[in-house]
Amino acid sequence: MNKTAVDCLKKDDLILIAGGGGFIGGALAAYFSDQGFTRIRCVDKKPLSQWYQHIDGVEEICADLSEEANCIDACKDAREVYNLAADMGGMGFIERFRIECLRSILINTHLIEAAQKAGVERYFYSSSACVYNTDLQKDPKVRALKESDAYPAMAERGYGWEKLVSEMFCEEYTAERGMKTAIARFHNVYGPWGTWDGGREKAPAAICRKVIEAKDASKHDIEIWGDGEQTRSFMYIDDCVQGIDMITHCDDLVATAINLGSDELVSINQLVSYCEDIGSVTLERNYKLDAPKGVAGRNSDNTFIQKTLDWAPGTSLRAGLELTYAWIETQFNARKAGEDFVND
Ligand code: NAD
Repeated sequence: MNKTAVDCLKKDDLILIAGGGGFIGGALAAYFSDQGFTRIRCVDKKPLSQWYQHIDGVEEICADLSEEANCIDACKDAREVYNLAADMGGMGFIERFRIECLRSILINTHLIEAAQKAGVERYFYSSSACVYNTDLQKDPKVRALKESDAYPAMAERGYGWEKLVSEMFCEEYTAERGMKTAIARFHNVYGPWGTWDGGREKAPAAICRKVIEAKDASKHDIEIWGDGEQTRSFMYIDDCVQGIDMITHCDDLVATAINLGSDELVSINQLVSYCEDIGSVTLERNYKLDAPKGVAGRNSDNTFIQKTLDWAPGTSLRAGLELTYAWIETQFNARKAGEDFVND
């Protein structure tokens, strides 16, 4: 039986979620709140008006965690810390803004030090499949990536290297200073309350939005980045937060990076077909071959997580997309009607 926060914490222990105004941080706060935890502190540098979720009873602090003093304040009294804060986005963002991605190293560097000094018991770090050696991802028919494929290192420039070095920080804080750390390598997370517009959105949200926009404008075509043959796997947000909880509280996974992703591999063209199907529309596809498209193929090898937790993300892409498409359509219509962000 896997242990979770409910087995390891008292309901009034303080849980800190860095990046709690973002997509996954917000979903994690909602998840812990639903489990009955009463002291959840979310910290994010975005103004509160831009946070994706506001959850009753959750403490919300707007602060820049790349500054040491803010990390020290944030960690006060915390029993567990979850670091979901990073300057990140889809391929359009991480290929263009490598310096911003690299600078996220400051967040983890200060936060983990502050956490350890504050006596935090468990520290979770959100790593990424972008740590994997890019030489192994040149073919759309990839073999799935297993944890050992991160070394010898040839990570995604900028974003991937920052993640790899931050993973190492976690490993060493356990080895040298005894704090329990947990490291999950997320593979493309999507779902309601995710970024769906503005340049940081990832493929599932971007395609849902483009189909919705085309329908709304009675357009008959859609722009696709690359030739559409690049492959990926996509994990639904509910699987992600459940996985974070189990990984963080598994004593066999202390300071051990593990894949947290779906192993349902699809091409971007298949993703478009799902979205068209959900939107009951067929669109002509215009391939933008010079757009950012990332590696040719990437999938999660779930052997290790299956063996360790007897569990792996299980929501099918079709089912998760249906919920995501419906949510984005609501947001789109609300924006069109001049309403603010719809928060339910
Ligand atoms: P997100 O952009 O929605 O959330 C990240 C949050 O961090 C944002 O709200 C941002 O304002 C905040 N932030 C950035 N810099 C900060 C700072 N200096 N101080 C305080 N807050 C700061 O992204 P997300 O999808 O929720 O991702 C969460 C974590 O998971 C990140 O570490 C990301 O790299 C990792 N990850 C996400 C995916 C994915 O598919 N979403 C895949 C792999 C890894």
